[in-house]
Amino acid sequence: MIRVQGLGKNYGDLEVLKQIDLEVSQGEVVAIIGPSGSGKSTFLRCLNYLEIPTKGKITMDDITVDVTKYSNEDIKKLRSKSAMVFQNFNLFNNKTVLENIMEGLTIVKKIDKVKSKSIAEEILTKVNMHQKQDVYPKNLSGGQKQRVSIARAVALNPQVILFDEPTSALDPEMVGEVLSVIQDLAKEHITMLIVTHELSFARDVADRVIFMDQGIIVEQGNPQKVLLNPQEERTKAFLANVA
Ligand code: ADP
Ligand code: MG
Repeated sequence: MIRVQGLGKNYGDLEVLKQIDLEVSQGEVVAIIGPSGSGKSTFLRCLNYLEIPTKGKITMDDITVDVTKYSNEDIKKLRSKSAMVFQNFNLFNNKTVLENIMEGLTIVKKIDKVKSKSIAEEILTKVNMHQKQDVYPKNLSGGQKQRVSIARAVALNPQVILFDEPTSALDPEMVGEVLSVIQDLAKEHITMLIVTHELSFARDVADRVIFMDQGIIVEQGNPQKVLLNPQEERTKAFLANVA
């Protein structure tokens, strides 16, 4: 479903992503861990060209975007393959919960209002937020906002969902409700990349864990192996610090 070849990203002289090569299968759930500043967010943002890479090729499903030669059409097509869930929700504060979900359906997917509304209602029920559909984001808890933001991503029916620390901005008592929504999605075999600090969640839900440091993938493998029996010194040091 995803193939990343020789991906790099510089900000001026700062080489944030050095050389990332990665393949992710349809339905695979991949957790990405690593220290702050290691390039995890930049990597996710390059995958949908929210950031333009400095080098490399990204394939999602049937579209390949090569940074040395691409069109706006290619980027549009690439972006239509994924949806992103951010740490800080990025909901439209002037729209209700229902309108937040309908927006992408009517504007991006050009689905008519009646149909958009019924899709939105169905997905809100799935994340147990249907009772809040006419509420504005300011009247929701952090956990509720994040569940709406996940519903908004799912509503677009993307091939891939990219999560960038979806629980990092939440009070501890709300982390569980959001992780359980993501866990339910994993059971539906939606392809997901999840940057997270929740190691026990990664262990339980991910098919694969990737440890990133200083712009490279240092180590990857099944969660048990990477989290409990890491091979690389940098992975060991990171896990020793966060445990
Ligand atoms: P992580 O998500 O792993 O914490 P990031 O991808 O956010 O790491 O950042 C990696 C590095 O890139 C950091 O040193 C950060 O300061 C730098 N960086 C991120 N975005 C920008 C930007 N827009 N301009 C310049 N430097 C950036
Ligand atoms: Mg980040």
